[in-house]
Amino acid sequence: IKFRAEDLQTLLVLGAGSGGVVTKIIKMGVHDTAEQQKLEKQILRELRILRLCQSPRVVSFYGAFLHDGDINIMMEHMDLGTLERVYRKTGPIPERIVGQVAGCILEGLIYLYEHHKIVHRDIKPSNILANSLGEVKIADFGVSKELSNGTQAATFTGTQGYLAPERVREGTACTPASDVWSLGLTLMELAMGAFPIPAEALPSIFDLLEFIENEPSPTLPAGRFSPEFCEFTAACLIKDPKQRPHPKQLLDTAFLRQAAAMAGTGVLAQWTQSLVPVLQQ
Ligand code: ATP
Ligand code: MG
Repeated sequence: IKFRAEDLQTLLVLGAGSGGVVTKIIKMGVHDTAEQQKLEKQILRELRILRLCQSPRVVSFYGAFLHDGDINIMMEHMDLGTLERVYRKTGPIPERIVGQVAGCILEGLIYLYEHHKIVHRDIKPSNILANSLGEVKIADFGVSKELSNGTQAATFTGTQGYLAPERVREGTACTPASDVWSLGLTLMELAMGAFPIPAEALPSIFDLLEFIENEPSPTLPAGRFSPEFCEFTAACLIKDPKQRPHPKQLLDTAFLRQAAAMAGTGVLAQWTQSLVPVLQQ
């Protein structure tokens, strides 16, 4: 067994002799085992790849280092925080803005797949960030499962709520199609101001996963949103991953073509500017 001072907590001093002190200690933490060191090395290797990802749709990653058993990650600061924070503070996000956000996320995903063969694996409102310049970017992509889920694997309505049915069912690796499912749920959540699966009615994580696998996909209430948006989210939430469109195909939908036509008008920058007094940090 390896020991490091920072892992040891003194419980009590048992006594002092002429040559030293005898204390009762407990060994805390595990970050000095060979296995832990191997895991840290692997995570750092993955993080090094992320430094190569440079896109206006992706939060820049500057570097990472190990210190005292923690992995420290340096990244670009997004001054309005996550879109989860935005909608929780300001209410549902207007559909025309959600369209712009959808375009940004899709462009980010396409960049990661085409240039780096990276699948995001964890698209959700808390991993989409905005800044006051009117930029929306994706964060926390492709990162090792141990790093992103380590301590929160069992968090109810956490990451698992956004899992595509095929990942629940088979526990399979994430593909571009499973990112598309998570995108559909994310956009619905932003527009409705609430997570679209009735999580309160599902008492445990197992009930939630069973719901995703066996119940029909959630749909947007038609009266409140345009047919184009409803159609777009319905396509993202097709349960069979082979039938579900890929990110590139989604750019060629009525909803995204409308968004692209509006992108040059500064609509996103106006919206983020309006958030500055409430949200800038
Ligand atoms: P999970 O642990 O399931 O991924 P999460 O995405 O909310 O949940 P973190 O990725 O650790 O957790 O982020 C925690 C919080 O830190 C975010 O909710 C956000 O408010 C803030 N944050 C993260 N990255 C940035 C960034 N680049 N700029 C500004 N704020 C950030
Ligand atoms: Mg995150």
